[in-house]
Amino acid sequence: MMPSQASETPTFVTHLECSMTGQRYEADRIHGLSEVGRPMLVRYDLDALGAALSKQDMATRSGGFWRYREFLPVRRAENVVDLGEVMTPLIPLATIGARLGLAGGEIIVKDEGRLPTGSFKARGLALAVSMAKELGIGHLAMPTNGNAGAAMAAYARRAGMRATVFCPQDTPEINISEIALQGGEVYCVNGLINDCGKIVGEGKEATGWFDLSTLKEPYRIEGKKTMGLELAEQLGWELPDVIFYPTGGGTGMIGMWKAFAELEAIGWIGAKRPRMVAVQATGCAPIVKAFEEGAEHAELWTDAHTVAAGIRVPVAVGDFLILRAVRESGGFAIAVTDEAIMEARAEVAQEEGLLLCPEGAATYVAYKEALADGRVTPQDRCVLYNCATGLKYPMPKVERFLDRHQPVDYAAMS
Ligand SMILES: *Cc1c(COP(=O)(O)O)cnc(C)c1O
Repeated sequence: MMPSQASETPTFVTHLECSMTGQRYEADRIHGLSEVGRPMLVRYDLDALGAALSKQDMATRSGGFWRYREFLPVRRAENVVDLGEVMTPLIPLATIGARLGLAGGEIIVKDEGRLPTGSFKARGLALAVSMAKELGIGHLAMPTNGNAGAAMAAYARRAGMRATVFCPQDTPEINISEIALQGGEVYCVNGLINDCGKIVGEGKEATGWFDLSTLKEPYRIEGKKTMGLELAEQLGWELPDVIFYPTGGGTGMIGMWKAFAELEAIGWIGAKRPRMVAVQATGCAPIVKAFEEGAEHAELWTDAHTVAAGIRVPVAVGDFLILRAVRESGGFAIAVTDEAIMEARAEVAQEEGLLLCPEGAATYVAYKEALADGRVTPQDRCVLYNCATGLKYPMPKVERFLDRHQPVDYAAMS
């Protein structure tokens, strides 16, 4: 059946392109990695897009990231898989900023924990699952450290697709449960995310599932790109001075960098870019190591460990794209310790009433270290990405017992 005119979403996709060689691939076909085993990027007719849409049009639209549909690859509206996405808020850390003596600068948290499934993985997976639906795929599989699997399971079930998920056996219990409750078939593996990825890759032929691993299909980047579009719009099309991003597979870093290029190409922003800072944990810092060594690719990190599970990624296929964004922006890569992450999480919660996830807290540690060593200044407007709700992560047990049969000691509470 031909789609009706009304169900056509205006879209400007022209083709796909290998991020390494630039080789072109046809749109509207199922794609994984390029011939040389690298991520593919979606390309658009940006002149036509810029002519069809204005900043003023955006101001009249409500809702979350689907409001950027012209920048996205889904052709038919009925393939959009939607779970009530919202535009995530920008929350200034004003109390902390004043204590740190900021002079004109700002620390702003972009709180991605408000998205469906409680993390920004919703952005990438909503796009990947919608495109899988458009391309007629029925069974999805992926390796995950937790949040991506949860988002895939939710959107896949919403679309009526099967979802099979492999996670390291020490993945937070809450993630394993949410995946299973949302209808995902979840397996715990005695290894790391790259070991899980191998199982997905090797099982493709036997099972017929489609591999939705980070950057191994082209559309999760497009979803994460909306973080950059949304940030620009929320700041009045004026990008901040610095962005601190907790970097695992790097989809968000690569996606935001692509968003800024597309916005400049259509004339909505100028050439000014934020310095992009890749934040990792000292127990798993392949991108930081490669950045410091001046290398184009990162080596596999052995014995990866950190409390910030979302950034425990020992090897990333898009390593060179992350490093390129960091270097072209004049940014840097920085590793922080687990101890500092957990202290920072308590510090922000107690001073600002904002409960970060460990990965989000890592960006605040990186910010403080960079402010102390002069890599950022008290004048800089800095955005920290809190990528998931703090409620998904273990918290210290608090016990203040009251015996209801005894008089209450109100003096101690006043
Ligand atoms: C996945 C994840 C990250 C890393 O995101 P990438 O874009 O893959 O680098 C950071 N924090 C949390 C909470 C995550 O779930």
